[in-house]
Amino acid sequence: MAYLNRKQRNQLLQNQIDENRVGMLKALKDGRRRVEMRIIEAARNERFATVRRIRDGIYKDIGEEYKRLQGDLDEWSKDSILRTSKVYHGLAAADLLATDDDRLASSFAKFSAKHNEEYFAKIHPFNAEKLAAVNVHLNPQLVRMAETDVRALRTATVDALREAHIAGMTPQERAKLLRGKVMDYADNPASWKFIDRSGKRWKKNNYFDMLNRTVTANVARDTYHDALADEQRDLVVLLGGTSAESHPACEKFNGKVLSLTGQTPGFPTLDEYIGEGGFHPNCVHSTAYVSKDFGPHRKLIEEQGGEIEEVRDVVEFKPAKTIKEAEEWAVNNGIADKADYNKLSNIDVANAVNSASARMVNRYGKKYDKIRAAKQTSAQNAGTPMYHHARIKPDGTSTHELVVNEGYFGRFGSTDEIIKNIAESRADQWWAARNIEDLAVHEYGHRLTAVKMYNARKGEAFVRPGGIYDYKNLGRYASSNADEAVAEVFNRYHQDGFIKDEWRILFNESSEVAL
Ligand SMILES: [Zn+2]
Ligand SMILES: [Zn+2]
Repeated sequence: MAYLNRKQRNQLLQNQIDENRVGMLKALKDGRRRVEMRIIEAARNERFATVRRIRDGIYKDIGEEYKRLQGDLDEWSKDSILRTSKVYHGLAAADLLATDDDRLASSFAKFSAKHNEEYFAKIHPFNAEKLAAVNVHLNPQLVRMAETDVRALRTATVDALREAHIAGMTPQERAKLLRGKVMDYADNPASWKFIDRSGKRWKKNNYFDMLNRTVTANVARDTYHDALADEQRDLVVLLGGTSAESHPACEKFNGKVLSLTGQTPGFPTLDEYIGEGGFHPNCVHSTAYVSKDFGPHRKLIEEQGGEIEEVRDVVEFKPAKTIKEAEEWAVNNGIADKADYNKLSNIDVANAVNSASARMVNRYGKKYDKIRAAKQTSAQNAGTPMYHHARIKPDGTSTHELVVNEGYFGRFGSTDEIIKNIAESRADQWWAARNIEDLAVHEYGHRLTAVKMYNARKGEAFVRPGGIYDYKNLGRYASSNADEAVAEVFNRYHQDGFIKDEWRILFNESSEVAL
């Protein structure tokens, strides 16, 4: 699915509104038929005019029918929310794929109904309100309709009694007069004037029409925004154009890039737009994801003068043929300010480090100050393929260096042997890495967490002491210390596309970025 334009997005929303309307019309049509049947019952009852208990019973039955209708509309809300939220979760995934394709290393979180309860509570219009006549809790709109029916029947009764009295009618004549009045009302209840009996024609902008459009549009927007936020995306553009009836907020923010969370400096937030009246009932405005990595969007962002921490081209990896080429590639593509692979004997190792690190920098935007190879051959470090070295200054600034250990890699006769050794260690539940690239991803995990881990340790508020000691599936290496646990969590995340919630929390508490 390509990135949709404004017209296509409007059409998508309109399709959802149309689909959801079908279920609503059915609920209303059935509701109207049942209410009419109750009114006809009143007309047919000989003692309706004279026995109060019978009248009250019928009024109560009418109220019950509205209560039933409310139940049907609740069901309709649930179905509509589910249908629409699936479509808009899918749209968010498609938008990321169309604009951020190679940043989508992690699989997009599967659709879950976790937000749906929330949406239901949010859109649910049925605020508790007591209807004296029937004593049930109903949507105020349904309360008004039930009250209209009961009032009409009361008026018909009073009128019939008065007219019969003046004309000196017999009880039979009086009952006939009342039946006629009630049947007339059952034929065309004032409460249902907004829709015809077949449920096919209804007045524009009636309450239920508005309810359908508002529910659908709100769920569409909320799902879309939640899905983006769940994937750590922040920028959207407000679409929908302006017309004579446009709300001032929509006019002001139309075409503007907005930040969902306020995390991206230089842009107004979605809350600002909503706070000024945006997404009002019947608002036709919607949002679309804006990617810093997508050419047309970058232009949009620049035009609006937004400050973006790092706008970088997504780097496409090309293997180098020589060590010198690999060093140049790393520097020219913004992986590190300096690169020195001189001590490295195997070009495949340099390429694997470049490839994996480029993938990480593409995604998280944080490069190394330096990547270098070291020739360390002591027995002590022969088992350490790479390490990350951070220098953290008192003013909070930091530098980050990735060191590739020739003492480890140089021991092997071939690249295959290296990979075999790494994989065997994994099979032995030592670490999560399967190959050289994974080792570099692990180090990048340190790159993202070193500062926070350092500060946490300094402040003696060590990150979740004890909380990390669930190494099942993480490997024994993760049990060395908290830094390794966090880096291994990061590695697993990049292998599987997801991690357990507790690991995600642990990592996010320790990192400059959130997974
Ligand atoms: Zn609007
Ligand atoms: Zn490590």
